[in-house]
Amino acid sequence: MQQTLTAKMQIVPQPSDRQLLLDAMKAYSAACLFVSAYVHDHAMPLSQIRIHDAVYRTCRSTYALPSQMAASVTRTVIAAYKSVRTNQKRHRERFGKKKRHADIMPEFRAPQLSLVWNRDYSLVWNDDKTEKLFSVGTLKGRIKCSFHADAMEWAFADGAKFGTAKLVFKHDKFFLHVPVTIEVPDAPDASGYTRVVGVDRGIRFLAATYDGRKTTFHSGAQVKQKRAHYKQLRRQLQMRGTSSARHRIRTIGQRENRWMNDVNHCISKALVCSNPEGTLFVLEDLAGIRGATERVRVKDRYTQVSWTYYDLEQKLAYKAKNYGSSLLSVDPAYTSQTCPICGHVDKKSRKHETHIFKCTACGYTSNDDRIGAMNLQRMGIEYLLKAQVSGE
Ligand SMILES: [Zn+2]
Repeated sequence: MQQTLTAKMQIVPQPSDRQLLLDAMKAYSAACLFVSAYVHDHAMPLSQIRIHDAVYRTCRSTYALPSQMAASVTRTVIAAYKSVRTNQKRHRERFGKKKRHADIMPEFRAPQLSLVWNRDYSLVWNDDKTEKLFSVGTLKGRIKCSFHADAMEWAFADGAKFGTAKLVFKHDKFFLHVPVTIEVPDAPDASGYTRVVGVDRGIRFLAATYDGRKTTFHSGAQVKQKRAHYKQLRRQLQMRGTSSARHRIRTIGQRENRWMNDVNHCISKALVCSNPEGTLFVLEDLAGIRGATERVRVKDRYTQVSWTYYDLEQKLAYKAKNYGSSLLSVDPAYTSQTCPICGHVDKKSRKHETHIFKCTACGYTSNDDRIGAMNLQRMGIEYLLKAQVSGE
């Protein structure tokens, strides 16, 4: 099964190239606004061909867009109108209104630029082949930009596919929002499971598991420390800025990946081997984990280890399959606030400072690190029960 997540990466152009990116974004947004107004004023249907035919020349001549960018403008505007309509529909449904209002015209106030993968942007090597760079199209040809992908390594995993990216400019920095399609395990069929194990991935513990009787923890302290060490080292080398320093940054990155790879290999092996054949492992889906990492404080940002989550999931899926076990991803909403005994949801049940969970309804009390795993285990059992009912 495939899932698409957005990787947000800062890209860093050469100082002399910054204006080229800004110009391209400005021209692109201005063209979008023009097309948006045209569609609005002429009450045009959202047809790619019809809008394109009406506006293409102006996009080329007035806004000096290269032909492919001019074609992208139409797509961007249509997508914006569609999302306006979806939001309005949701709003109507929520408040029980029937009447459809006229479309609100998207205004494209913030400068932006849509980039089609392998056409408007791509990954290339730098001159001494020590570092990958993003090559990005502008109004005056392509430029090369280095980038920061800390905690976004999952986006570069084998088989990950990049889609049409959006370039945005925020706090004086450029960011590429890249939709990345990755492979995640299929939902298993419900028959023949001998055990259900909830696996909660986190920072204090790389994995906490609950099998209905006991909880097991795999510590994250060592990982956190080691990654911070690598980060520090990289920063020092980056400041030096020589080509040998850049080369060392790359070797350090590889060493760190090998080491993290090894940690995940050990954890996934321990999980699979310490449970019987036919175990259903229940994990939070990756979209939920991305949401979770966004809440992490900035100073801890490097340790959000979302790549580690993805990598662990891949390794666990592979090993489980060879062992006759399976993986199930579930929507993790409220897993840390829900009482695993009575199902009561309350933010106040969880005390962050003391790491204690005390249910405000039934009084069940436990260390809060186990709660996520217990709830995931419960969700796994519910999944099997539901699947059984619908199968009968
Ligand atoms: Zn309770």
